[in-house]
Amino acid sequence: MIPPDVIEDILRRVSIVELISQHITLKKAGHNYKGLCPFHNDRNNPSLSVSDQKGLYHCFSCGAGGNALTFLKEYNKLDFVDSMKVLGDLAGIDVEYYLQNQQDILPLRNKLKTMHQIAQEFYVEQLFTINTPQTELAVRTIKKRKLDKKTIELFGLGFGGVAWDGLFTKLQSAGFKTDEIVLSGLCGKSENNKFYDRFRNRITFPIFDSEGIIVAFGGRIIDDSSNAKYINSPETPLFKKGSLLYGWNLAKDTALELGNVILVEGYMDVIRMFQAGFSTAVAPLGTGLTEDRISFLKHKVDAIILCFDGDNAGQKSTYRSAGIAAKLGVPTKVALLPENEDPDTFLLHQGPNAMAKILDTSIEAEFFILESAKSKLPDSNKFLQDVFEYAIHLEGDSNSPSLHIKTEQFLKKVSEILLVSYGSIELEFSRFKEQFLKFNNNTWENSYTDVETKTNKEFQEEFELLSILIMFPEFADHVASILEPSDFYNEESQEIFRKMLLHPEFTAQDWIISAGNTSLISLTSKWLEAPDIRIIKNYAVSIRIKSLKKKRDLISKQLINSDSQLNAQILEIQTEVIALKREFYHL
Ligand SMILES: [Zn+2]
Repeated sequence: MIPPDVIEDILRRVSIVELISQHITLKKAGHNYKGLCPFHNDRNNPSLSVSDQKGLYHCFSCGAGGNALTFLKEYNKLDFVDSMKVLGDLAGIDVEYYLQNQQDILPLRNKLKTMHQIAQEFYVEQLFTINTPQTELAVRTIKKRKLDKKTIELFGLGFGGVAWDGLFTKLQSAGFKTDEIVLSGLCGKSENNKFYDRFRNRITFPIFDSEGIIVAFGGRIIDDSSNAKYINSPETPLFKKGSLLYGWNLAKDTALELGNVILVEGYMDVIRMFQAGFSTAVAPLGTGLTEDRISFLKHKVDAIILCFDGDNAGQKSTYRSAGIAAKLGVPTKVALLPENEDPDTFLLHQGPNAMAKILDTSIEAEFFILESAKSKLPDSNKFLQDVFEYAIHLEGDSNSPSLHIKTEQFLKKVSEILLVSYGSIELEFSRFKEQFLKFNNNTWENSYTDVETKTNKEFQEEFELLSILIMFPEFADHVASILEPSDFYNEESQEIFRKMLLHPEFTAQDWIISAGNTSLISLTSKWLEAPDIRIIKNYAVSIRIKSLKKKRDLISKQLINSDSQLNAQILEIQTEVIALKREFYHL
């Protein structure tokens, strides 16, 4: 079963306009979109109206209508489960996970939400009633930022407390098990098995989903002593990084009404903007602005205004975000702050009127990029560096021809500015791109969630299986009867599984300490109870089949002249695949 709140979450995240425009051409009409209705003979009179804000479609002629689920059922003839899979893909939520893990998910999510609520009450209490030198310093830090009471309450600021395990003890006495508490991300476990509060000694910022439910926290140090100024909750079943915008729960109504959002960089920027009356400010969480978040905004607002820090890093964020937005076809403007100011400090120093002026004079992103790069001329290298950085994100990692046209048009403008041929700019750009990809490999991947999930997906299944085995090592033998360590695609997985077979005496605890891979360890918390043996088998068989197929493809490539020995090997593999499928999938 897919838990009802997950279904809601998926439906909330999916853009119905995006879904329907995969099949039908939709055109913007006011707040809604219009298109030819596919459910009756609607030749010249577009009578289908689609609203992203409401998540609904409706035909004024034939009366067809419903939400994303209804559309998939009526138009694609999909049943509920298959529809949810399609929508889950669009929403970035793994529906398979819920289908395979039938027990305990719903209570678990509810438990996590309750724990976050308790944490919030704890943090607020710490800030306002508990008196310690650190608390005072936290209060002073907030006061120094000139935040008024209403704002502090609206954003739910708190303080993590001074004790190592104040919240941990509170959650424990509220009846939560230690592994549940660690899974929530609110507390961690040190190497010598001590539990600690993650946001201890930090000013806390609750992170809300779009419905205003707390799903994670951010924490800022109370003085400026350390480099790690901000930390966020780790990913949990409630919180996926890059999938939320800070402040969206508060900004959404006004943003939908006004048709724009102001994108700023940090929590404090959002809070300050709200306090100054700019209540459409939102910020990406942690990972920078992802493609996922821009698509999320795409059909909700008519324009994004980028208002990043007036420093080098802010400029880079602007190039990147503007590039991705242009690639996705979202009109974007840039509001330029003076050097060394961010929205927070700028509002503190200059006040709301000056900010309103900056926003009013925001300029179209591509124009901004060309103009600001021009200021670096006659140094054409610096000029090219800037425009290429934008072009790289504009082109993205896709090979879609329409994207290529956008980049081409942009590079043509560049060649006109420099009075050189388009061909030479194109050549320079491809050189630049090669270097950029080589040296910024990480940032490139970070800026594209789809790339991230693609690589993760290959490992996901293996990690799922290993995470079960870490929690329940007694199943390792069973898995070994289906696959060999070398069947794992990921070398790290191979190594862990080999070690498992060598050390049957290792307990879950031993594994958690020695496995080292944090994304693997964070998965283990899903398996508070042993899953059905069929789930374990399914993973093992699927990994084995993939490995066999890979082997087969490899042999096929070697098969230049039909070598009978290799042919025999292929046949053997084919037979095993069929046998495995018959045995385990009853095909
Ligand atoms: Zn119709």
